[in-house]
Amino acid sequence: MTKKIAVLPGDGIGPEIVAQAVKVLDVLKADGLDIEMEEGAIGGAGYDAAGDPLPDATLKLAQDSDAVLLGAVGGPEYDKLERPLRPERGLLRIRKELNLFGNLRPALLYEELADSSSLKPEVVAGLDIMIVRELTGDVYFGEPRGIEERPGPDGKPERVGFNTMLYSESEVRRVARVAFDIAMKRDKRLCSVEKANVLECSELWREVVIEVSKDYPEVELSHMYVDNAAMQLVKWPKQFDVIVTGNIFGDILSDQASMLSGSIGMLPSASLDENNKGMYEPIHGSAPDIAGQDKANPLATILSVAMMLRYTFGDEANAKRIEEAVKAVLTKGIRTVDIMTAGGTEVSCSGMGDAVVAEL
Ligand code: NAD
Repeated sequence: MTKKIAVLPGDGIGPEIVAQAVKVLDVLKADGLDIEMEEGAIGGAGYDAAGDPLPDATLKLAQDSDAVLLGAVGGPEYDKLERPLRPERGLLRIRKELNLFGNLRPALLYEELADSSSLKPEVVAGLDIMIVRELTGDVYFGEPRGIEERPGPDGKPERVGFNTMLYSESEVRRVARVAFDIAMKRDKRLCSVEKANVLECSELWREVVIEVSKDYPEVELSHMYVDNAAMQLVKWPKQFDVIVTGNIFGDILSDQASMLSGSIGMLPSASLDENNKGMYEPIHGSAPDIAGQDKANPLATILSVAMMLRYTFGDEANAKRIEEAVKAVLTKGIRTVDIMTAGGTEVSCSGMGDAVVAEL
């Protein structure tokens, strides 16, 4: 059956980078991939078109599609809008409406770009980690939360702020399954990261992950406290294959891990629901400083398409085909300005798209 992809370019460099990813999809379609694509407005573009950062028509398009390809949202021209109308609200709402609880953030460093990392090349060259972060629970959503007055040490009222770290078994189980399924498609090693030595919430997390592991006897499961994980990610990141962790720990660790690879323009991401329907987007923002100049690096978006093929469409062959084309382009020294290395040939955003298409 024909798979439907909602294409949401968004703002800033969004339309430029998404156009390159669409070129890649067009090649695969011409070669027999059974897809159709339809565009929708989101973020500032949604506000401009319909007065809403997530117009009803866009939400319906996303709900009716098998996968969503998103560019980026936001820009200084929208910063003065009331909060509910700001572009970022459109993004948060679409994630929530589609129930995208499993956030996949690879930290990947092509050998060709090892010099662009802040760590020594031998520590990061060939790095390939997948962080699975739970995205809809934890201390960000747990109740009760708030700021209120309580008696202080001197008996006088003072303000206290509080949040609740909370995970239900079902929430842990479903994200653990996503992580184990991914580990099965990779090197079959999964490290669950929490803080079970001090937090009951983490104790339950660990128990449930161990329960789920019984269904995945081929996957080697390990556990690590989050403070140690932060250290190990900098010390010897190549020890990890897949990491699964809660929302707040994952927020921090995935940003840390993404920086191991040096360039924000290279990293894709996926957010999945229970049925592997997903939204795929680069981890970077709309880069207003270079928007409209045909300078942005489209590879994070093109690699997001590879993730879409792998995780939503189960099409490993085409996912690899894209990843190998990107690698071949890098091996030839073709570079956008953000990943320029000595001896490289500089190309524009569309030039990079064309180079990947030529490799395909
Ligand atoms: P940003 O990621 O847009 O840019 C940070 C820096 O990286 C900039 O110098 C930019 O030029 C560069 N950069 C980013 N992507 C690049 C690419 N593909 N190629 C080359 N260089 C690239 O982050 P920011 O400047 O903090 O935010 C800009 C806007 O994007 C804001 O409105 C912010 O709210 C929004 N934002 C959106 C998302 C999203 O849509 N998922 C994520 C983060 C920020």
